[in-house]
Amino acid sequence: MRQIKVEKLGDSNIWAVEFILQQQMNECFLRAQACYDSPCAKIKNKPFPIEDYIAWYQKRSKNKKADVYSDCYGINVPMKYVYLLQKLFPNLTEPELFIIDELININKINNNEYIIAFFKKEKLYETIKKHEIAHGLFYIDKKYRKITTDLINSLPTNVFLEMKQFLLSKFYSSSVIIDELQAYLISDYFSPIIDLYALHSYREEITRNFEDCCRLDNI
Ligand SMILES: [Zn+2]
Repeated sequence: MRQIKVEKLGDSNIWAVEFILQQQMNECFLRAQACYDSPCAKIKNKPFPIEDYIAWYQKRSKNKKADVYSDCYGINVPMKYVYLLQKLFPNLTEPELFIIDELININKINNNEYIIAFFKKEKLYETIKKHEIAHGLFYIDKKYRKITTDLINSLPTNVFLEMKQFLLSKFYSSSVIIDELQAYLISDYFSPIIDLYALHSYREEITRNFEDCCRLDNI
């Protein structure tokens, strides 16, 4: 039984989809997500079979048993990729058809809006939700994007490179590095690096900007 809650966040163009189970979230969204931000040229912006993505993921992980369905904890994807999935991908799966119907036909979400998803049975639920909201703001709010990009570009080069390296090792495409970096900073994943290099003022500023934008959008 699949249970989801679809909700527009405040006055923003971000829609949150809450699942109970991680597996169900990933069955619905993995291909749209990978099409958006995979570093693999055969996958990014291409209609690919899910088996190809799983094989690529296991090869990159150097682990034949690596399971992307249990490694992916949240989804952030522009709605236009859900439309792309519907338009370009042959043989859509039942969970994909289900989520396309929910988002396009039932909730009438436009292709300039943004989708985030997470699941309830996760102990870091609030942290992951915050991380995904930061992605949503970065995409839809020009002012938010400008302030966070400027702040990240002013990080000391060695710290920026260390964080970037970490994210590349997590299989993010270099095209989303600034976006991921700010979302990781907002959700406190980089605390050890921040503490190590005494960069607390960056984190405070980036967090203040996040909270101000959430307030303005009634999120
Ligand atoms: Zn992220």
